[in-house]
Amino acid sequence: MINIKNYFRMLKFIGPHTKILAFAVVCMILSSLFDGVSVGMIIPLVDKILAGKEIILPNSNAIPEIVKGLVNKINTLPRGTLLNYIILIVMGMVVLKEVLVFAHSYLMVAASKRSVRDVQNRIYNKLLGLSMNFYHRNKTATLMSRITNDTALIQQAIAEGLTEIFYQPVQFLVYLTMLLVIRNYFSISWSFVFIIAALLPLMAYPIIKIGSRLKRITTQSQVKTADINSLLLEAISGMQVVKAFTMEKSESEKFRKENQKFYRLSMKSVKRMNSVRPITEFLSMLAVAVVLWLGGKQVIYEGLSPGAFIAFLAALLSLIRPIKRLSKVHMINQQAISASERVYHILDEKPTVIEAKRAVKLKPLHEKIVFDNVNFSYDTKPTLDSISIEVKKGEIIAIVGPSGAGKSTFVNLIPRFYDPTSGRILVDNQDIRVASLDSLRAQIGLVTQETILFNDTIFANISYGREDASEKDVINAARAANAHNFITKFPEGYDTFIGDRGHTISGGERQRLSIARALLKNPPVLILDEATSQLDTESEQLVQEALNKLMKNRTVFVIAHRLSTVRNADKIIVLEKGKIEAIGKHDDLMETDGLYKKLYDMQFRDI
Ligand code: ATP
Repeated sequence: MINIKNYFRMLKFIGPHTKILAFAVVCMILSSLFDGVSVGMIIPLVDKILAGKEIILPNSNAIPEIVKGLVNKINTLPRGTLLNYIILIVMGMVVLKEVLVFAHSYLMVAASKRSVRDVQNRIYNKLLGLSMNFYHRNKTATLMSRITNDTALIQQAIAEGLTEIFYQPVQFLVYLTMLLVIRNYFSISWSFVFIIAALLPLMAYPIIKIGSRLKRITTQSQVKTADINSLLLEAISGMQVVKAFTMEKSESEKFRKENQKFYRLSMKSVKRMNSVRPITEFLSMLAVAVVLWLGGKQVIYEGLSPGAFIAFLAALLSLIRPIKRLSKVHMINQQAISASERVYHILDEKPTVIEAKRAVKLKPLHEKIVFDNVNFSYDTKPTLDSISIEVKKGEIIAIVGPSGAGKSTFVNLIPRFYDPTSGRILVDNQDIRVASLDSLRAQIGLVTQETILFNDTIFANISYGREDASEKDVINAARAANAHNFITKFPEGYDTFIGDRGHTISGGERQRLSIARALLKNPPVLILDEATSQLDTESEQLVQEALNKLMKNRTVFVIAHRLSTVRNADKIIVLEKGKIEAIGKHDDLMETDGLYKKLYDMQFRDI
């Protein structure tokens, strides 16, 4: 069955656009009034004109004077003039009706598209506010599919199904009343009504069954769409690896298989969608046939008035129409409800890193950053275990350790990408969980191995997060980061679009752009993940120089891979399986002959 609660929850997406919707409904009701101007009604009128007969009203007091007057006026008009009038009136009515039909469908689509636009904004804002662990749990392509595919299904349900789901039951009731009135008036046997009453649920059953199947298939096919998108995203962004490992054939086969699965699923839903019509047609014809057969016999053998019988049959046929419409709408709604459940999955998600209710603005780092017995785990296994350190303002802290020791996790706790499972991190004795996220993160610069550049100009990429920066500021930052020279070699200079030239910017140049970005932000605390990828000597030197400038007069946490970095560090933290194995300066640690010496011999590159 349709899940009423979830359906109404989906309707909440319409929000402030209900007014447009209401206006659309008014247009629809008016246009259906004009529907009365059907050929069926014109014919007798024209017939009267053409046959020259007068319109005769029944002698009833119930007829208002104004109608009587109008009919008298019509009767006195010459037939030719009346014909002209009627044609003009009918044409006018048709034009009016079509304008209303247009307004109705236009407004419905407008309301649905506005609703979906707002939902998309809401999802995006929600995504921006969710914590990093959410992004580790969900695939990019799945999230993209929520914003694009699922909202499209919701839009269709609002545009095509919403008025119907309220309008058609009313129609059904109207026709049912008509049917009962006719039955009563002409004393038609109750057995007809019972047959209809028995056949209608029979008709509804397969529709409901197919609908819930369709809902399941839609869920599966949305998962498949996300899988396909993931596959594409990975293959396209990793095209170099695909080619280097000559995996084109295997990738193509992988895609073909997924695509085939998706095709089968969509055909399943097409089959379900399209099987509804034949089923409803067949069952409605069955109802009509039974009534026709029984009624026909009554007309022939028991003297039932043929006119009454035809009227009854006509009412029955009209009764079936709303059911057919509703069954189609039911299918659309089932798909949309499952889509909106998925959308709410995101909207209901709670961020794990939450800003304190009365968060204070963190003052610029003055004295020290302290890790006070910090523990952290992503799941059950501890990733960081009893970490306690004190870092004075202006110190350079190098973090070293084997792969998986917890280095990245350690630095990610400082800007609160994650919160410690227990223990505290203090900035000048202030627990960072009490500080506002903005004021905390404003103090921290981040330069990662993966240099994230956006599809925008070089200028916009450097000034990212500092929209107020002047051209001079940006150029100064680029100069300090040894980036100015290569930028000005591009014909468009700072206006060069990175997206267009993404691949003509070298790894070293990308790193310098992200260093320039950090320089411009000028944060007191810097988190640096040194790149492990080998750059050529010249480029390496330019990057190193830029980094040295960036590290100057800042408190730096650096995941170190270079010898020069560990040598210059005020403290080196040696991490092993989430625990601090040792803390000290390079020379002291070399003397103790522990893990650091082993790492030093294996890992650090001298340049
Ligand atoms: P590397 O030098 O290889 O980058 P690392 O020392 O920086 O390693 P972390 O990335 O901090 O190590 O990872 C520490 C441990 O936590 C690893 O065992 C890793 O598998 C696990 N881990 C990291 N990120 C997540 C995550 N999002 N969810 C679950 N486990 C994670």
